[in-house]
Amino acid sequence: MPSSPLDILHSVFGYTSFRGQQQAIVEQVAEGGDALVLMPTGGGKSLCYQIPALLRQGTGIVVSPLIALMQDQVDALREAGVAAAYLNSSLSAEDQREVERQLLAGELNLLYVAPERLLTGRFLGLLERTEVALFAIDEAHCVSQWGHDFRPEYRELAVLHQRFPQVPRIALTATADPRTREEIVERLALQDARQFLSSFDRPNIRYRAGLRHNAKRQLTDFLEGHRGEAGIVYCLSRRKVDETAAWLVESGIAALPYHAGLDAATRAANQQRFLREDGVVMVATVAFGMGIDKPDVRFVAHLDLPRSMEGYYQETGRAGRDSLPAEAWMIYGLSDVVTMSQMIAQSESADERKRVERQKLESLLAFAEATECRRERLLGAFGETYHGPCGNCDNCLEPPKTWDATVPSQKALSAVYRSGQRFGSGHVIDILRGVDSERMSQLRHDHLSTFGIGADMDEKQWRSVFRQLLAAGLLEAEGEYGTLRLTRSSREVLTGNRQVLLREDTRPERRSRRRRDS
Ligand code: ADP
Ligand code: ZN
Repeated sequence: MPSSPLDILHSVFGYTSFRGQQQAIVEQVAEGGDALVLMPTGGGKSLCYQIPALLRQGTGIVVSPLIALMQDQVDALREAGVAAAYLNSSLSAEDQREVERQLLAGELNLLYVAPERLLTGRFLGLLERTEVALFAIDEAHCVSQWGHDFRPEYRELAVLHQRFPQVPRIALTATADPRTREEIVERLALQDARQFLSSFDRPNIRYRAGLRHNAKRQLTDFLEGHRGEAGIVYCLSRRKVDETAAWLVESGIAALPYHAGLDAATRAANQQRFLREDGVVMVATVAFGMGIDKPDVRFVAHLDLPRSMEGYYQETGRAGRDSLPAEAWMIYGLSDVVTMSQMIAQSESADERKRVERQKLESLLAFAEATECRRERLLGAFGETYHGPCGNCDNCLEPPKTWDATVPSQKALSAVYRSGQRFGSGHVIDILRGVDSERMSQLRHDHLSTFGIGADMDEKQWRSVFRQLLAAGLLEAEGEYGTLRLTRSSREVLTGNRQVLLREDTRPERRSRRRRDS
C-alpha cells in the first residue's frame, strides 16, 4: 500500500500531526502541482518539500543559497533514514563524483544544491538523465533585487520550468512583502502555483521601542530583566559591537562579539558558545543570525535602527522560537535616521533602488514612532491585516501620551521651506530658536520670517518634533548632510488641513517587566 503524507510524518520524522498548512502544501506538491509558500522562520517549511519528495518517484532537488545549512539538513535527514546528499563547493572532486553517481543511479531521495551549481550546463544535463521528483526553491525572496539577500542566479531559476515543465516546483520564503511576492511569482514563472500564506504573527514576542538617551544605562536596565538568559544585541557598526561587548563583559555579563571583521575561527567559536552554553549574550551586526536555530533566545535588542522592516522582522524573529515569552526591544535616535539616509544616498545603487530604500526606511520609522499597536504596524508592513490592541506590545500595554503639535509642526515646515530646503535639522532648529551665529548672518537666515519663532521650545523638544515629522513622512531627509525637504503631505499641515499628534518623548520605560512574572 502506498504511504500517505501522515504515515511519512510519523514514521520518518516522528511527529504526530501537521502544523498549520503543511498538509495542504504537501498534498498539492505530491500531486504534481506548484506551490508558493510563505511561512515565518521556524514555521516548518522543510517538511513541505521533504515529504512530497519521499512520496513521489525520483529525487527531490532542493535549491538553497545557504551552503552552511545544507550539511545540517542532510545530516538530520540521513539520521532519519532518508537518502539525502548535497552538492556544493565545499565537497572534494571525488565526493562530488560520488554524489553525481548516486543521483544518476536513482539512489537519492533528496539532493541539496547551490543555485550556481544547479544552473551549470553540466548539472542540468545530469538532471535530464535523472528522474526528478520536484524542485524546491528555498529562500525564494533571493530573486528580489530590492531585498537584502539578492542573488542574481536566482533569477535564472525559471529555466527549470522551461526545461522540466512536468516537474512540480515549490518556492518557499519567510520574507516576502506583497511586492516581493509578486516578484517571486513573475521571476520564477509561478503564475499557476497555489499560494499558501501563513500569518507572520509571533504572539509570544513582546515588541518595545523607545528613544535612545543613554544607551548603556538603558541596555543594562533592560538586561536586568533577562539575567542569565540568552539573547542577541544588534548594533549597526562593528566598532559599536566590539565596544558594547567589551563593556558588557566588564559589567559581568557573558557577552561575545560577532561581526564580519572578526576572523573566521573567532566567529565560529563565538557562535558555538552562543548555541551550546546557556545565557550567552551575542553582540552582533546583522552578519549574525542567518540560519541560527536556537530555540531559547529570550530577547533580541537593537541599539540602532535596523536596516528595514524585513530586517527587523528577521532579526527579532530569532527570539522565542520555543514559543515561550520573549522580547524584541529597540532604542534609536534621530542620528540613526540621518546615518541611514546618508548610507542610502552614498550607496552606488540606482535611483530607483534608492527610492525603494528610502521608502523602507520611512516604513521602519513609522513603526518605531507608532503610537498604536506595534504588531498591527509590523504585520501591516507585510500585507497582513491585523487589528490591535494585541496586549503584548509597549503601546498596547501603556498607551503613549500624545500632544497636539500642529502649530510647532507648521513652524518647522515653514522654516525648512523658507531656508530653501537645503539644510539639515541642526541648522533649521537654530533658525527656529533664533540662534545668533556668524553662519546665520552670513546666510542671512536671521532675516527670515521664521527666525526665532520657535524660541519657546528647547533644542531637545525640537529634535523630537523633527524626528517624528520625518517618521510620519511629513519631511524627508536626503543626501550626505540629511538635507530636509518637504513632502507631498507637508502641504496639508501647512494649510491647516491636518492635525499633527506627536508622542511625548517621555523617557521610555526603564525596567523591563517580565511577562513570565505576570
Ligand atoms: P523553517 O524552515 O520554516 O524555518 P523548519 O522546517 O526548520 O522551519 O522547522 C522548524 C522546526 O519545527 C524544526 O525543528 C522542525 O523539525 C519542527 N517541525 C516542523 N514541522 C513540525 C510538525 N508538524 N510537528 C512538530 N515539529 C515540526
Ligand atoms: Zn499591540
